[in-house]
Formats: sequence, C-alpha cells, structure tokens
Amino acid sequence: MKHGAKAGRLWASAETPPLLDPGPVAGHPRVVVRETVCRSVLNQSSISDYSLNCYTGCTNECVYCYARFMQRFHPHAEPWGEFVDVKVNAVETLRRQLRRARPGDVFMSSACDGWQPIEASRRLTRGCCELLLESGFSVNVLTKSELVMRDFDLFAGRNGRIGVTITTLDDRLSRLWEPGASSVAARCRIVAEARRAGLRTGIMFAPLLPFLSDTTESLETMFECAADLAVDDLWVDALNPRPKVWSSVSDLLRREFPELHEPYRRVLFNEGARAVYRAEVRNRVTAAAARFKLQDRLTGCF
Ligand code: SF4
Repeated sequence: MKHGAKAGRLWASAETPPLLDPGPVAGHPRVVVRETVCRSVLNQSSISDYSLNCYTGCTNECVYCYARFMQRFHPHAEPWGEFVDVKVNAVETLRRQLRRARPGDVFMSSACDGWQPIEASRRLTRGCCELLLESGFSVNVLTKSELVMRDFDLFAGRNGRIGVTITTLDDRLSRLWEPGASSVAARCRIVAEARRAGLRTGIMFAPLLPFLSDTTESLETMFECAADLAVDDLWVDALNPRPKVWSSVSDLLRREFPELHEPYRRVLFNEGARAVYRAEVRNRVTAAAARFKLQDRLTGCF
C-alpha cells in the first residue's frame, strides 16, 4: 500500500520508496536514505519469539550479509550497504502491536544492525527497546556498533542481553569483510562495558571465514578473548551459502585472496567437501572452547 497523498512523502510499499534525503549518514556519504511507514514492526521469528527491524538496509556493508535477500522484497537500485529505508513510524506501530502481543523474547535485529550509524539521529531502535523492556519483553541485542552503549541505561534491571558479532579479531580482515561496522576493539569494549554495567552479555563468532578465521590459532585467540571478557553466552556459526551472498564473497576473494576462491567454492557448494569441512571446524571450535573452559557458555554451534 502506498501512502502517497495522505501521508505526504511517506511510502509503505514493495516498490522502492521515493528519495527524501540523499545522506548524510555519518561516515557514509554515499548512502541513500529514504523514509517509509510500516504496518507492523514486531514480527514472529524462527530465531526467537519475535524479531524487530527499524530499518531496511544496513550500512555496515558486510560482504557475507545474509540480509541481502531483503532486496527481493524491497528492490533498490543501490547495492546492499548503500541504502537505508527508515521506518519512521516504528515506535508508534510497536506501541499499537504491544496492546495484543504476548510478552516474549525479541531479537534485535535480524535483517539490519539496529544500531547502525543512522540510529544515532533517528533513535528508533532505542524507542522500541524502551517500550519493549517497559512492557515485560526481553530484548536480545546482536550488533556490531558501539552506538549500542548509548542505550545501556534502558537495560539496567530489565530482562535483556547485549550481544556482539565478531567474525575475526584481525582488524585488517574485519575492514575488508565488514567495512562499515565498528572496529573489533570497539566491539570487545561493548561487552566489557555491558558487563561493568551489570548486563548479561553474549558474543556470536560468525560467520567463521574459511581458511581465514577458522584456524586453530584464530579460534583460540577468539575464545581467549571471550574468556578475558567473561562473556555469559557464546555462539559460533559457519559461513553458509545463502542467496545473493556468493557474488559479493566471490568478488572480494578474487580481489584480495584469489588463491582462496576455489577452496571457498568447494566448501560452500560441494556437499561432500562441505560436510567434511564443517565437521573439522566443529572439532576445532570444541577444542578451543575446552582449552579456555568455555564449553558451558557455548550455547550454539553449527
Ligand atoms: S551488520 Fe548484519 S545486517 Fe548489517 S550488513 Fe552486517 S551482517 Fe548484514
């Protein structure tokens, strides 16, 4: 449904919304920003009871991002990472939905980073977290943005967890694979500060980059870091061959790691090689977790 005449320039449609504001998003001058209205923002989820996304698109621009599939439903001329649609009525929509929704766990966020740079001025994720926590829902944060620290005050004494995703502890690799996200050091700082604030914490090591961040040495560095941070919950996931992901991964490999292009293709798309690869990585993960006495906190591994 378009909201052309009544709602002025705001659209809620499967079509690309009209351009309102070509930037600026701090640090992302190329990003195209559009405003949309949504009919629902709290959605049932297979990951948790609910998921909530205040934005379509994500300027963290991760090369391996599975959320690229959103472009099937919300086509954009710009490539993934260079557009953000802002659901300007997210907080009001959530307030309406909460009159009927049964309290549960809300994953924040499943198809964007709720604390990506534009959230600094829009404050929609903050507004939704506030409403949810006040209404007895638990909020399960997963982010790569240090902006989340702005909102720790909301979580104090409430039911929630502050989680960060870390793909690698190697900053050079991180800049290549997730150029718009906060630095690895900043993500570790989020966990340390959350813990200091008395909040439950988590780290998702994902996706492990084949032959780059899935070696024994790399995994041990990650688990050592998790142990130092005394994180409460850990998850690990492999890189999966999801729709639209391979073309961007393939481009980066050809440019930066040409010798890995074929090995990646094999472990992603050859069923036999993939099964062997996953079993080997699982064994290395289990061993690294055991070495740092973190088996009990590893609540999910592919
Ligand atoms: S932070 Fe998440 S949603 Fe955003 S680009 Fe990276 S993987 Fe995709």
